[in-house]
Amino acid sequence: MYSLDDYNKYLINVYDPLEFIPTHGNGSYLYDGHGKDVIDFASGIAVTSLGHTNPILIDSLIKQAHTLWHTSNIIANYPQIELAKKLVNSTCFDKAFFCNSGAEAVEACLKLARRYAYKNYDNKKHNIVSFEQSFHGRTLFTVTAGGQAKYREGFEPVVGGVNHGIFNDIESARKLINDNTAAVIVELIQAEGGVTVAQIDFIAELRKLCDKFNSLLIFDEVQTGMGRTGKLFAYMHYPVTPDIIAVAKALGGGFPIGAILVKEPYQTGFDIGSHGTTFGGNPLACAVANTCFDLINQPATFAAVEERAKLFVNRLNDINNDLNIYSQICGKGLLIGARLHHQYLGKSRDIVKLAIKHNVLVLTATLDVNRFLPALNIPLEDITIGLDRFQAALTQFKQEMVL
Ligand SMILES: *Cc1c(COP(=O)(O)O)cnc(C)c1O
Repeated sequence: MYSLDDYNKYLINVYDPLEFIPTHGNGSYLYDGHGKDVIDFASGIAVTSLGHTNPILIDSLIKQAHTLWHTSNIIANYPQIELAKKLVNSTCFDKAFFCNSGAEAVEACLKLARRYAYKNYDNKKHNIVSFEQSFHGRTLFTVTAGGQAKYREGFEPVVGGVNHGIFNDIESARKLINDNTAAVIVELIQAEGGVTVAQIDFIAELRKLCDKFNSLLIFDEVQTGMGRTGKLFAYMHYPVTPDIIAVAKALGGGFPIGAILVKEPYQTGFDIGSHGTTFGGNPLACAVANTCFDLINQPATFAAVEERAKLFVNRLNDINNDLNIYSQICGKGLLIGARLHHQYLGKSRDIVKLAIKHNVLVLTATLDVNRFLPALNIPLEDITIGLDRFQAALTQFKQEMVL
């Protein structure tokens, strides 16, 4: 049996984990083996979207485990071909590239866009336009693209040629996008940045600017993808399509895998040898992702997300009408945010810590917003029980604030 003291002794502490170490999970529950059960409204940050120890995913993993684990990309494998085919046939894209994480997927999008510009225009067309408050991962290129200075601090010099506009402010983007712009990268919901939804006009105008200046439009769908917002990808809620998307998190339902999807003309930015990764398209990851994809990409799943989102938001609003802690409930589908009232700003992490004491796991999205990412198939009853527990946590929070 281990404790956080052991954790702190042996691990570099970049995470500051909560006072709860689960030993197993089932559906939307996590257990510590000592009688504590926790309702999970975090899903490993939008990853275990089909619940913990999903029996159908276990079957596909075990089946693949008895077949073929790893070959590297010096040879192909069936599960990766099948997964690429499924992703391409269900979207506006023509080709896939597989990697292992969200940051790697975004990194590949940015590298592809730069190389496409380099091959088709000139070496001045290398600039990337991103947005303040965005989050794109923790590699050096992706923290540079990200719009939060604290993640870049101390790692300078960062990658050159990256500028940030203001999210949902098209005039700020217009000032940055020009003939030297290789790509514009944007999240359709800034999830880590506070659960801010991109306005339809903003995205439509970004598409026009990209078309005007021959810049590629990249959507980072690492968190919004794979059914989270009630459609397979969040771009499907918008009237325009991007040229490339980054996918990861829920793609493998808990098995690490990332991908980029790209429209035909732009995939030529890469050629043999210009990018790659040892584990990308690994048979174990792709086998699980194939099953995960089949389970998520169904009308019944998208309807379930809508139903759960409605119940969740209604109940959260009821709780908030009583306690008046949040000024706004925001988001789309099961990517839900709750923005703290003025007097509670900076306290979202205190609420997360109280919630786990009350046996419910929730998240922050900045220190001013709490975030909820339940499994897409969470039983309705578990939403009710979990939010009852959350109400108790918020009640305690409010009492302690008054003291
Ligand atoms: C989580 C996330 C990433 C980074 O993914 P990792 O797997 O942690 O590298 C990138 N972009 C967005 C929008 C994310 O939510």
